[in-house]
Amino acid sequence: MRPKKKIFKFGVDLGGTKTEAVILDNENQEIFRKRIPTNQEGGYEIILNDIFSLYQEMVDKVDNFQHTFGIGTPGAVSRKTNLIKNANITCMNGRPFVQDLEKLMNRKIARQNDSNCFAMAEANMGAGKGKKLVFGAIIGTGVGGGLVMNGKLISGLQQIAGEWGHSIINSIGQRCPVCGKIGCIETFISGRGVEEKYFELHGERIPMREIIKRYRSGDDKCKLLMSDFFAYFGKAFSNLIDILDPDIIVIGGGLSNIEELYVVGVNKVRDYVFNDELKTPIVRNKLGDSAGVLGAALIGI
Ligand SMILES: [Zn+2]
Repeated sequence: MRPKKKIFKFGVDLGGTKTEAVILDNENQEIFRKRIPTNQEGGYEIILNDIFSLYQEMVDKVDNFQHTFGIGTPGAVSRKTNLIKNANITCMNGRPFVQDLEKLMNRKIARQNDSNCFAMAEANMGAGKGKKLVFGAIIGTGVGGGLVMNGKLISGLQQIAGEWGHSIINSIGQRCPVCGKIGCIETFISGRGVEEKYFELHGERIPMREIIKRYRSGDDKCKLLMSDFFAYFGKAFSNLIDILDPDIIVIGGGLSNIEELYVVGVNKVRDYVFNDELKTPIVRNKLGDSAGVLGAALIGI
């Protein structure tokens, strides 16, 4: 058998505060990693140039050897205009980011959001490795998701596969600042959603970690709030399992560290799923903060 041709995978994770680059070899072994601050104050052109500099450094690192390039960025690309929208790096909004970067780099590139990069990384290198159909769910400030089958990202006809966080779960609820609808999953099980609910009920703004702390110490208000949270967690994931029946669900994002999700939350999923038992493993991610940049390398073209 002829040896497999060597092709390096370059990945860049563009985040609000840091930009990270990685090179993987054929076996997905990491051979290079670098992290620089994201210069949001510098503006759009500076951000593009910083990514280009990282790219040039990576090209040098592999002696100009054949490679793919993928990048994870905040926000989405508008299907109508090709412009970036909803990015928390606000200078990117309204810009043809992919086309501008392709022009600068003189090559085609692949771009995905953080949820899809997370799902790709966990499916190929993390908690979902070896499983056929993997759903990666991010529960943090917001709620996102990505779907990976046989190691490949399923992005769907409209590139919205996995965006279950913005499907409506209870029409009596809060308006979502991202999708504009009332009562989507994100408004019930994201950190921001739970904090808003606490504020609405008790007139006090406290961060999610404080809500969890008070819940664990037996505070009645937080116990009630978290009981709702776990019930919605159960509904949200049971709906997902009813439709996709994935081989595993891997959870990432800031709230993935809440131990109770995997006990109390999963019990609620069991209550609501359309089956007399729940076989689906619902587990914490393995790659932590690295998933974004590793996933970016795995989506490259
Ligand atoms: Zn929404």
